[in-house]
Amino acid sequence: MARYFNADQLPLARKAFSDAERLVFSHFAIGENVFQKNKYDVKTLAYLEQHEIKDGAFAHLCKYSYEKQSGLTENGKSVFDFYRICLQDNIILDAVERANSFIKFSALMLYIAAHELIHVLRFGNGEIDFNASDDQKAEEEKIVHNLTKIALQRALHHDLAVVLDCFSNQFRICDT
Ligand SMILES: [Zn+2]
Repeated sequence: MARYFNADQLPLARKAFSDAERLVFSHFAIGENVFQKNKYDVKTLAYLEQHEIKDGAFAHLCKYSYEKQSGLTENGKSVFDFYRICLQDNIILDAVERANSFIKFSALMLYIAAHELIHVLRFGNGEIDFNASDDQKAEEEKIVHNLTKIALQRALHHDLAVVLDCFSNQFRICDT
């Protein structure tokens, strides 16, 4: 049976994302306007569509492209991309449980949130193509892991340091 974040964990997950936004955006000196271009949302397992649920990683990143009538382009249409960070509650809870209180839920969530936000920014900026080859994506995972580590330096504390040590780029943080 699928397991979901409980009433204590949901606000902690939300806080992890707002903390991660602050840290990541200030680290990359990203202003409001750039953030607007990188539209994304975050959903937990209970709210995911079937195709957004994947085994084996903490999060699954989905990209949706929409056409909208804008009147700004020749044919009056522009395409905008939207990213959904699909949290796999059960995998995250399993990892926390297996670590036997060694890994703290909040610290792991902060890492996952910052990692996913950096993916969204890099895909949004065109630094890597969403449909890149598996090899390129494996390379991208390493880059994102390192950038996440750097972006989180300002918030570094014991629990987070443990997470950064345990979940190296060898571990599947996410699936894009
Ligand atoms: Zn990743």
